[in-house]
Amino acid sequence: MGAVITAHAKADPLLADQVFELQGYADTAYQSFGLSKPWPELRLVNRRDDMLKSSDVIAQAAVFSDFTRVLYFNRSALGRATHIVTETIDHEAAHFAAWEAHGYDIRTHGRQFEETCLSEMSALTCKRFR
Ligand SMILES: [Zn+2]
Repeated sequence: MGAVITAHAKADPLLADQVFELQGYADTAYQSFGLSKPWPELRLVNRRDDMLKSSDVIAQAAVFSDFTRVLYFNRSALGRATHIVTETIDHEAAHFAAWEAHGYDIRTHGRQFEETCLSEMSALTCKRFR
């Protein structure tokens, strides 16, 4: 799965490396859940992007009406500790897996999400505040 690397990232090798790293974390999580391909596209966005519920959200899983799946990642969270970033990506991956297994009408952090998430990830990762 290729990440969408913006023109800015191409001009900035450090940012490109970070995007590559994020894609690696996401791919590992999708693999753990046995998510079907094509896997969600990773999009790096600014903290004020409409797809983030708030500017302090690290990442956001989204599915569009054509079933395109996108993992939005808040660019301003790139500097956060690795475990925070990976736990968040694991949590978002669990949303994709729960939707794939149970459909899109399930409650965001309801029983199906929890069961799916806990089957592969820690209780901390599956907490609903993420
Ligand atoms: Zn969540």
